[in-house]
Amino acid sequence: MFGECHAHFAMDGVNYKQAMARHKDAPDEAHIRACFEAYRAHDITFVRDGGDKYGVSRLAKRIAPEYGIDYRTPIFAIHRRGCYGSIVGRAFDDLRGYAELVDEAIRQGADFIKIMTTGLMDFNEFGRITHIDLDPAEVREMVHIAHEKGCAVMSHTNGARAVLAAIEAGVDSVEHGNYIDEECIAALAESRTCFVPTAAVAHNLMGRGLYDEAVLARIWEASRQAIARAAEAGCLLALGSDAGAVCVPHGQGACDEYACFEAAIPDAAARDAILSRGETFIRTTFSRMT
Ligand SMILES: [Zn+2]
Repeated sequence: MFGECHAHFAMDGVNYKQAMARHKDAPDEAHIRACFEAYRAHDITFVRDGGDKYGVSRLAKRIAPEYGIDYRTPIFAIHRRGCYGSIVGRAFDDLRGYAELVDEAIRQGADFIKIMTTGLMDFNEFGRITHIDLDPAEVREMVHIAHEKGCAVMSHTNGARAVLAAIEAGVDSVEHGNYIDEECIAALAESRTCFVPTAAVAHNLMGRGLYDEAVLARIWEASRQAIARAAEAGCLLALGSDAGAVCVPHGQGACDEYACFEAAIPDAAARDAILSRGETFIRTTFSRMT
């Protein structure tokens, strides 16, 4: 089985507020161990976390070897104060503050840096992103600072304009990347940025009566087409489900994301070749050892 290139051990796939509340005083080790058991049950031996603000992924990194799992974490994600990201990380006010957070993540054992450059998708309105984007010049500086300190950058980014800015800034992976267009695909194909579409998030929400079904169906179809186009164009693509998000269980999430890739890339041999190339890229790039 392929690895899971985008998970959040702090969350439980059910209710993020309740999940986060369990870690408030100290990371819930029983929950972390249950996550590892779920990955082991699915024969998944590689997990890249997206970080959290309570030290859950930091503890998970310490106990991962007991489960034979190669687990990578940014410790916490980094966002601009007032922009999206407070549920998974820590905020900066200016680039000096950002650089201090990068140093802090490294001190705590981060394998790479995770940044948030946009908001989330609005599942009730197609095309809408919940928060404003960071300034492209600032994103460029953020990536430069992390790279200077020997860290790859995982970038939470949605929307064509912001995805293009992230690729041009040299991020090592674009996460979610909803609503990308042909210009983004062409830029991705020419870059060494890996696209991790997390299509399972919208797909798994379908039919549950939680959001507007027509909007979810359009988001999923747009993701499916983006994966297909990125594959055709020769872009780096990796399997990451955002496991821990609502309706995306740990372990099973990677299988659900694989099913999304099956729908987007029908040729099994081509699909698996693309995903193994992407995973190799993630494994080798998102490590401070290399
Ligand atoms: Zn995430």
